[in-house]
Amino acid sequence: MIANNGRLKIAIQKSGRLTEDSLSLLRACGLEFEFQKQSLYSPCRNFDLDVLALRDDDIPEYVQDAVADLGIVGENIVREKGARVETISVLGFGECRLSISVPQRSSIRSVKQLNRKRIATSYPTTLKQYLRSQGLKAEVIELSGAVELAPTLDVADAICDIVSTGTTARVNGLRPLTTVLTSEAVLVANRATLRNPKKKQLIDRLLIRISGSLQAHGKRYMMMNAPATAVPRLKKIIPSLKSPTVVPLADEGMVALHSVIPEDVFWDVMEKLKKAGASDIVVVPIEAIIR
Ligand code: ATP
Ligand code: ZN
Repeated sequence: MIANNGRLKIAIQKSGRLTEDSLSLLRACGLEFEFQKQSLYSPCRNFDLDVLALRDDDIPEYVQDAVADLGIVGENIVREKGARVETISVLGFGECRLSISVPQRSSIRSVKQLNRKRIATSYPTTLKQYLRSQGLKAEVIELSGAVELAPTLDVADAICDIVSTGTTARVNGLRPLTTVLTSEAVLVANRATLRNPKKKQLIDRLLIRISGSLQAHGKRYMMMNAPATAVPRLKKIIPSLKSPTVVPLADEGMVALHSVIPEDVFWDVMEKLKKAGASDIVVVPIEAIIR
C-alpha cells in the first residue's frame, strides 16, 4: 500500500519502448531516484515525487482513478482506453502510427474495400471509431498480440496495428492502406490532482523543467572569437533562427559570438566558421532552455 503522503506519484512504463526515454526525461529534469523494474515504487530523493513502474496499458486507468497523479504513456493507449485524464504535455518520443495494412497480394486497394471484411487488432475501440467515421461496416477481430500473423492464419483480411513512423510494414508481407492515428508519448494528469493546490504547484515546477529540457533537445551552445570585420560572414554560416549574440572583447577589433545551433550540424559549421576567421570555437551541451 502506497501512503497518500502528499507526494506526487508519476507512473511510467516498467519495461518497454517508452521506459528509457521516460527515465531520461525525468533525470533531465534533475530528479534523482534509483529505478529498478522489479520494484513497483521508486522514491525521488530531491523532489516530492515517487515513480511507479507499471504496464503501459494500465497507466491511463490508474491515472484516471488517482492511483497515480501523472503518467507517461502513448497517446494510442490513452485513446484506446478512453481514460478521463488531462494531457498536459506532449513529450517528443515514442512516435508511432496505428495503421491498417493488408497482405501484399490482397485485392483490397482502398479503405472502402474494407467494408464487410475482417480486421484483426489489439485496438478495437479506436478501430471501431475509425470505421464508424468512415461509414464502414467491418468485423473487428480482437487479438492481444501477434496481430500481424492474422492474415497468414486466415483469421483476418486486414490488420490494424502500431508501426513506427517512417517505416513500412513490409516485414510481414503487408501493404499499408491507411493511417488511423498518429501518436507520441504524452504526460497525462489526474483531473482532481490538477485542482489540488499543493500538487498543482509541484506539477507546474515539473512542467517548467520538462519544457526547458525539451526545448534544449537536439541543440548545442556555440561560442567563438573573431575579428569584428568577419561578423557578417560568420552570421551567414551560423544556422540559427535568432541572430547570434555579439559582444566586444577587450582586444581591440575582436568580438565574441554566442549562438544556439542544431547539434547534428555543429561539426560542419565549426569547420566553416574556422575558415571564415573564427577562433577558440567552443561547443557545449545545453541542459535546459527556459523562455
Ligand atoms: P507492456 O509490457 O508495458 O504492456 P507493450 O509491449 O504493450 O508493453 P511496447 O511495445 O513497449 O508496449 O510499446 C509501448 C508504446 O511505445 C506503445 O504503446 C507506443 O505508444 C510506443 N511505440 C513506439 N513505436 C512503436 C512500435 N514500433 N511498435 C509498438 N509501439 C511503439
Ligand atoms: Zn502494453
